[in-house]
Amino acid sequence: MGASNRKFALAVDIGGTKMDVACVDTQGNFLTRPHKEPVPFDDRGVADPEGLIRMLAPNVEEARRLEGSFEGIGMSVCGNLDPHTGEAVLIPNLHWRNVPFRAMVAEAFQVPVFAATDVRMATIAEALWGKARGVQNFAWCTIGTGYGGYLFLNGGLYNGSHNFAGNFGHITWDEINGPPCGCGRRGCVETFVAGPGIARAGQAALDSGRSPALARLAGDGRVTTRMVFQAEAEGDPAACEIIDQVIRLIAINLGGVVNLLDLDMIVIGGSVSRGSEDFIDRISKRIRDYLMTVEACRDLQVVSESFPNSALVGAAADVFIRKGILSFYGQGE
Ligand SMILES: [Zn+2]
Repeated sequence: MGASNRKFALAVDIGGTKMDVACVDTQGNFLTRPHKEPVPFDDRGVADPEGLIRMLAPNVEEARRLEGSFEGIGMSVCGNLDPHTGEAVLIPNLHWRNVPFRAMVAEAFQVPVFAATDVRMATIAEALWGKARGVQNFAWCTIGTGYGGYLFLNGGLYNGSHNFAGNFGHITWDEINGPPCGCGRRGCVETFVAGPGIARAGQAALDSGRSPALARLAGDGRVTTRMVFQAEAEGDPAACEIIDQVIRLIAINLGGVVNLLDLDMIVIGGSVSRGSEDFIDRISKRIRDYLMTVEACRDLQVVSESFPNSALVGAAADVFIRKGILSFYGQGE
């Protein structure tokens, strides 16, 4: 396909602090270098939608200058969106509730705009162009500031009745002694295995004098997730115990998901999943302790995400799928 008849979309991934932007074609190739920009917040800590639109403007102009057909803007956002209207229903990290951001972007640039939650976009990228291509039943799992995912079942996306499917991070682990969760309840798995939970466990180890490595790494500051992984790499017993416990809880949680849904694959992304080189391999081994069938033990694949940022790539894929240019059942061109 020559450059003149290629089709592409502007992909945007809006996270809790940064926005990733790039142009992506119908083969999943980057046409512009992916780059990051800080999300603008007002003095009350609310993300500024008008500021985001101003930051998008030069990127849209660049897309308009590219050779080929600019099919629209796909936006991946770190929270709950209505996948049909694109309305930002609840985005805790941006402090948004019922913000019609998709409509605002479409109005500003007069191009088709599609928006959905980042885990859904990552799932689309993996199904269309990634390791899950051709896989009928799989789960996407993000382990980062939060913990959760999205489901692809019987060869298609699974939304659930209210578009909340895939929230396996809010399956309860310990509602008696567990910490409060962002969802308003207590002791969800997320509160133990996501970044803040790992940092909290590291701080507790330091405070009780059990971790010389974390005491040295933290100095006068607070323990971060990254420090816990570094202390683990140095062989600090308390840090090793924390990470081992995290891997065990994730294996139990995802093992339950596999037992429930009989999945072929789990694709894992997010900053915590890259905390150590063998993190995903260890989940893959450990999860087999919690699988019900020999078939699942034999066939289940647990793999890392296929792209540096699957959600970004998936935001473009979503444009092509919604416009009927590509489908999960073979490509239209
Ligand atoms: Zn929760």
